[in-house]
Amino acid sequence: LNALLSATGTTVFTVMSALAVQHGSINLGQGFPDYEGPEDVVKAAADALLDNRNQYPPMTGLPELRQAVADANRRFYGLTIDPATEVVVTSGATEALTACLMAVLNPGDEVVLFEPLYDTYLPVIRMLGAVPKLVRLTPPKWDLPRDALAAAFGPKTKAVLLNTPLNPASKVFTAAELAFIADLLQRHDAYAVCDEVYEHLTFDGWKHIPLMTLPGMRGRCMRIGSAGKTFSLTGWKVGYITCDASLAPNVAKAHQLLTFTTPPNLQRAVAVGLNKDDSYFGSLSAELQAKRDRLAAGLEKLGFGVLEARGSYFITADFSPLGFSGDDVAFCRHITEAAKVTAIPVSAFYDNPADAPKHYARFAFCKNDAVLDEALARLTAWK
Ligand code: PMP
Ligand code: GLN
Repeated sequence: LNALLSATGTTVFTVMSALAVQHGSINLGQGFPDYEGPEDVVKAAADALLDNRNQYPPMTGLPELRQAVADANRRFYGLTIDPATEVVVTSGATEALTACLMAVLNPGDEVVLFEPLYDTYLPVIRMLGAVPKLVRLTPPKWDLPRDALAAAFGPKTKAVLLNTPLNPASKVFTAAELAFIADLLQRHDAYAVCDEVYEHLTFDGWKHIPLMTLPGMRGRCMRIGSAGKTFSLTGWKVGYITCDASLAPNVAKAHQLLTFTTPPNLQRAVAVGLNKDDSYFGSLSAELQAKRDRLAAGLEKLGFGVLEARGSYFITADFSPLGFSGDDVAFCRHITEAAKVTAIPVSAFYDNPADAPKHYARFAFCKNDAVLDEALARLTAWK
């Protein structure tokens, strides 16, 4: 059996969701909305199914979705993208991440990435024979440690993997931080895999800035979006990569090997979604911001130290003021069993959880208000 896969545990999201079901717990762990996405988008998928859009679509994606991705790049970020040669549609951002890494990495190449990080990055990098170089962001501010980042770059650096807005820390990288990264990429002639699945989920006036929009970055970045997050339809697994025409053929070949195509009916619906007017995108983030505020206020009242959340679906909360004696894994298990509310231990987002911060839990707020209120009531009763 493959040693790397054998050594990879079942994802913490599956483990905690199963535990939540077992204990009848409210699942604020795994990041999925408990409400449906926009009705017109769902209806477009249903119509496409009945319209016999059910055979293999073009490998790099339905032309109408590639056009919609290109148009969204122009509308939101001023990027000029050729839909025919610079967009690849994938089966979720998960596939997109693997395809982008496959597209550029050779064994022995180094990839610079930031901890805390999403759980698919490291196993894929290692399976490709590449070497991760980890740079830690430190709570509560999660600011870019510039010296450590510069030191992580070297002659073998092939790419950086950047997730902004960042899961789980809900950090939105600033223009100055991105400029620092861009400078290093140019000096080391490296690429960037940009996980931007939460691009439309930013709060308090924080704006998502794609690294790809910075000077010199157009040809180096592979920018990844996800319909799951942008349309609150996480089960759909439709992702899209925007990258320069010099990179796209390799990305497309990786997609060819991984899944070859992505369901055409869903692609057609996602095109409808991306073409929605600005008010949709504005209310998506406004509604989530209100949910964030609701949960954050409740957790603060309970005594948690709630960190600032500038984007994504998640709040990171310090539970040490509550006086719980165990670590974050014990805490998340305990509240699942005793309070019937589930969260994710933040140490799960580190390569070596043993030397990670152990007093933070991640709570997802992409839930109906009544569910957030009930979770807070349960935590209050438990405390
Ligand atoms: N990247 C990040 C940071 C995520 O949080 C997620 C999960 N939802 C993904 C990628 C995967 O997205 P998808 O469901 O489109 O595969
Ligand atoms: N991205 C989601 C999260 O961070 C979960 C995706 C998954 O279950 N793999 O919660």
